Amino acid sequence: MGSTNPYQMAVKQLEKVGKILELDDWLIEILKRPKREIIVMVPVRMDDGSIKVFTGYRVHHNDARGPCKGGIRYHPNVTLDEVRALAMWMTWKTSVTNLPLGGGKGGVACNPKEMSLAEIERLTRRYIYTIREFIGPHTDIPAPDVNTGPRHMAWIVDTYSTYTGYYEPAVVTGKPLELWGSPGRVEATGRGVIVNTVETIKRLNMNPKDVTIAIQGYGNVGYHAAKTASEWGLKVVAVSDSKGGIYNSNGLNPDAVMEHKRKTGSVVGFPKAKDITNDELLELEVDILIPAAIEGVINEKNANEVKAKVIVEGANGPTTPEADEILTEKGVFIVPDIIANAGGVVVSYFEWVQGLTREQWSLKQVYERLEQKLLKTFNEVYKLSKEKEVNMRDAAHMIAIDRVVKAIMLRGIWP
Ligand code: NAD
Repeated sequence: MGSTNPYQMAVKQLEKVGKILELDDWLIEILKRPKREIIVMVPVRMDDGSIKVFTGYRVHHNDARGPCKGGIRYHPNVTLDEVRALAMWMTWKTSVTNLPLGGGKGGVACNPKEMSLAEIERLTRRYIYTIREFIGPHTDIPAPDVNTGPRHMAWIVDTYSTYTGYYEPAVVTGKPLELWGSPGRVEATGRGVIVNTVETIKRLNMNPKDVTIAIQGYGNVGYHAAKTASEWGLKVVAVSDSKGGIYNSNGLNPDAVMEHKRKTGSVVGFPKAKDITNDELLELEVDILIPAAIEGVINEKNANEVKAKVIVEGANGPTTPEADEILTEKGVFIVPDIIANAGGVVVSYFEWVQGLTREQWSLKQVYERLEQKLLKTFNEVYKLSKEKEVNMRDAAHMIAIDRVVKAIMLRGIWP
């Protein structure tokens, strides 16, 4: 049976690379297990006066190389295992990009689409108040993820700072610019996905003018990937959201599609395109597929039907290990999540540094440093994958896990 439990997926990947790296069992055991997991009860007064009780999580996977870093997700399907997997992937992501950070993640099981803004604010503040002892600028720095953005980060920095008694910008990243967010943070992940895409196009000697791209998910990552791609002359022919997708072989205008989504609540029904399903989008005859929604969407059931030659993983964990084997066998070039979507954490790191030093960087500086960091990472992974004759995912994990292991060994087991 295929594993769609994201934590099982993450452990499987770890065990596979652990074998390649010939790691001792006790190291695998340490890396499998989060350092610390917090489950909290979050009561919220709803607008009608009733009280609803939600469950929140924060997982610190590993902090051998620096404070835990990772987003906060609001989604009905949030579970401890999902948060654990996402936290582990953050450890690998900060390591493969060589940032002085570890990995963490958080989430609240809720459906923000059925809640008012005031209810979401009360939920956010109560959740942060309850986990306040576990986050901090030198311990664990949250950020946005699915269904959270700058608005939520502003409530988080305010709640935390009210508790400490002074303004602490370095406790969270992805803040609005007015509260010392970083220029370029909002678009960083999507932009980074396209930096990786362009580098792949070069490496595989594809002609950028002929390349067609399909993107699943039209939120922060999907939209900014589509926008950057079209600004850089690449053709995006299909996009989707949770309600369905759209296709036009001549290409889509990302801003016009976003305008339609803003007005109607979905990309579906965009006048200058044909409606398709999410399943159809994943199986389109395109050169590059960018899953940028949720995990496990490319699995053993549909992997054989994927026709793209390249997959650039905007989402975290969109490909199950079973699908990964099928696609590798078929010769599909996969840019794995931990490098493909690392733009977000790289600029989050820049924002954290700006917060700690009370400095402000320009957008130009942020874009230049982002591109430098992502290209260096891509090329290190590409080189190792050629040297060791492994796929990009295994190469990325080998670099990431090796760095974390070295940090653990040097710090030692104490007492
Ligand atoms: P978001 O909430 O802004 O957007 C998510 C999008 O996915 C929405 O368009 C939603 O309609 C769509 N979606 C949800 N369920 C779907 C389904 N079953 N089928 C098709 N579409 C579906 O979230 P985001 O921040 O863009 O995050 C997307 C992915 O990227 C997640 O896996 C997240 O962990 C990852 N990621 C995000 C960041 C970041 O900086 N935001 C950084 C790294 C990785």
